Amino acid sequence: MVDTLMTTYKPLPVTFSHGEGPYLYATDGRRYLDALSGIAVCGLGHAHPAVSEALCKQAGRLLHTSNLYRIKLQEQLADELCRVAGMERAFFCNSGAEANEAALKLARLSGHRRGIDNPRIIVTEGSFHGRTLATLTATGNRKIQAGFEPLVQGFLRAPYDDLEALKRIAHNSRDVVALLVEPITGEGGIRVPAGDYLPQLRELCDQHGWLLMLDEIQTGMGRTGRWFAHQHAGIQPDVMTLAKGLGNGVPIGACLARGAAAGVFQPGNHGSTFGGNPLAASAALAVVHTIEQQRLDARAGELGERMLQGLRARLQGRSGVVAVRGCGLMLGIELERPCAELVTQALERDLLINVTAEKVVRLLPPLIISDEQADTIVAEVSDLIEQFTGGPA
Ligand SMILES: *Cc1c(COP(=O)(O)O)cnc(C)c1O
Repeated sequence: MVDTLMTTYKPLPVTFSHGEGPYLYATDGRRYLDALSGIAVCGLGHAHPAVSEALCKQAGRLLHTSNLYRIKLQEQLADELCRVAGMERAFFCNSGAEANEAALKLARLSGHRRGIDNPRIIVTEGSFHGRTLATLTATGNRKIQAGFEPLVQGFLRAPYDDLEALKRIAHNSRDVVALLVEPITGEGGIRVPAGDYLPQLRELCDQHGWLLMLDEIQTGMGRTGRWFAHQHAGIQPDVMTLAKGLGNGVPIGACLARGAAAGVFQPGNHGSTFGGNPLAASAALAVVHTIEQQRLDARAGELGERMLQGLRARLQGRSGVVAVRGCGLMLGIELERPCAELVTQALERDLLINVTAEKVVRLLPPLIISDEQADTIVAEVSDLIEQFTGGPA
């Protein structure tokens, strides 16, 4: 280990030299099956030819010009994303936190334009929205906030998947302008809300003139079986944020808006030097085209159903296992006790998984895995959890 890196991470003792599809190859030649995709980033798997080709071609032409000039690839990407999302306008940045910053600034500005001097934004418990000061304040996890006070003003918090709590806020609080929520929590432990939660949020936001802002940074780009998770509920947000799977590993984020929200930002209100530059936009365009041409959203739904059934058949009802849940290729197995050591145990079996919220084994495999690879992940993870919770049932 070098000591010239700041100690923000505690990396596992493995380094990868290259990847192909759902496999990563370590520097010692060992091959790992990737059931995490760089935390829901590499949805098309590693070294996808469409992304590599787009990047190589663009790298040989033009990387960056700044947003002082029109960028054709960025305009094309905005068109394509708005088309598949049913949104009207896009702003591009470089990460999820920045996409949420854009959404938060947009919500505040829309409030000020309506004469609300102290606009407030509702966020939920157990959420994750990023690590910048505003987004860590929006995040519903004290561990992420501790030590960074004073936090940003203007947030109200409600329990996740609890409509009544929001109604109480609506009744008691003035100056609310928006609600920012994940359609399924990612870092918070793959919590899938009740089927009517999003439709009810839509209704509540309409009643009170709040913007419904969905953080689809982890759930978007086909991962849950639809282009975007909210499409399962048949509703449309006013604002939606994207990042992770959008560039398949090339850093890019986006904040999409429709209706009045689409017209809030005027020149000078917001910006980014790199945001939507030709290189990043070319990668994201290749991702959008590949998902669409290969119907990877539908495929993720199919694979997710197969894996959820497989995991439930092995683990549901077992002592030590609290729940097996998910939507598409976003799967979580909640255990009774903290289980961080399962990550290293999986590594010993050439498998990459993740544990989040201390007790939840999280699987986010690439959308391009085969049925056999999906079954391998299910079998290996089930073995590990059976061992962890006390041998075969
Ligand atoms: C990862 C994530 C973010 C933050 O994205 P960064 O690119 O790390 O800034 C925000 N919201 C959700 C739901 C995420 O999963």
